[in-house]
Amino acid sequence: MNETGHEQDFKAGLYVRLSREDEYKQNINDFSESIKNQKEFLTEYAIKNGYSIVDVYADDGISGTTFDREEFNRMLKDIEIGRINMVITKDLSRLGRDYIKTGEYLEKYFPSKNVRYIAVNDGYDSFKDENSNNEMAPFKAVFNDMYAKDISKKVRTALKTKQIKGEYLGTTPAFGYKKDTKIKGKLVIDEESSKYVKKIFELYLSGKSIFEISNILTKSEVPTPSQYAKIANTQKYIKGAWNDKSIRFILQNEVYIGNTIQNKRKKVNYKINKQVEIPKSQWIKVENTHEPIISKQDFEMTQEMLKRHSYNRAGAAIGRPQKNMHLLSGLLYCGNCKAPMTFIPTYKKRGYYICCSTAKRYKKELNLCQMKLIKETEIEEKIINTLKQITQKYIDKNKFETEICSSCRLRKTRL
Ligand SMILES: [Zn+2]
Repeated sequence: MNETGHEQDFKAGLYVRLSREDEYKQNINDFSESIKNQKEFLTEYAIKNGYSIVDVYADDGISGTTFDREEFNRMLKDIEIGRINMVITKDLSRLGRDYIKTGEYLEKYFPSKNVRYIAVNDGYDSFKDENSNNEMAPFKAVFNDMYAKDISKKVRTALKTKQIKGEYLGTTPAFGYKKDTKIKGKLVIDEESSKYVKKIFELYLSGKSIFEISNILTKSEVPTPSQYAKIANTQKYIKGAWNDKSIRFILQNEVYIGNTIQNKRKKVNYKINKQVEIPKSQWIKVENTHEPIISKQDFEMTQEMLKRHSYNRAGAAIGRPQKNMHLLSGLLYCGNCKAPMTFIPTYKKRGYYICCSTAKRYKKELNLCQMKLIKETEIEEKIINTLKQITQKYIDKNKFETEICSSCRLRKTRL
């Protein structure tokens, strides 16, 4: 018999967790939340109350706003197989900071598995019906969620303040620049790669097309931005070809006239770790944050010329879509050199062959990538198979069938 009156042996799992939102708090509370402290605290508690400790589950550096945590999932498995029937955390926020999901565990999952849950510092104990602290738990959960939101907001505000000051916060500076080793958030000109940037603008302003420029650079073995970064890391020369997209990107990048533009992408919110594009009107642009490589005059001239020669991804003039654009155009990339795949009509134009654009473009002179023709039907088959798999997994077959049928009917009535 234990204090709750349940005649049951408790096999306890101690769950500890630490993340960014806690690190923020730590500055005030002096590391009281550290993994080690939580473990010690819970072990002492379990021993004192006579619960046998089966395992300790520790998620380090993982936010409480998600429940997809490795150790947490391992704990759930142990609950499923009956290895543990009790979960103890220091407080409710250790379990999670998403109030909806925390509530689900408290009200549904743990009771359904007959698991006793204790949040020591919040005085929560799911096996004590008369416990008034239990009734407070949903409010605590909401509060913990708000706390995560508040911290996320504070971190974002701090980043924004830096962006407004023009501090560079990215990891890889634009081709032509490097990070200043002395001043944090400052860009300085990179001697070697900035020469290539100058060359690209020069060639374009002298009337060369983007296509011609990428040919010239590739043939004279100028490293591409990604090659350049790799070479700097590994000190080895890596073969590669320039593509039109990266030339165009350089020609349009205001970094070269000394401006820093940030805040182009953001996380959906503090709970969803996914990046979304931010509208151009909200980008944070700061002028003259570093030494320019290209003069403002040359840059403006370049933009004017680019406007006149605008092409979209399929190579068609904007506003006049190419008639024979392939369905998969712009969606396939070479697995070897990452360049876009290109489409070559077969004899009598009954279909297409697909091949790497680098290989096709430089096959005779440079042999940069493998010239291998893939039949359109081969790729189509693969895509259809993948689609089938996805459909089987995610689409409710019955619902889909009715939807298809109702659209059939619609079409019929229209005809
Ligand atoms: Zn390739």
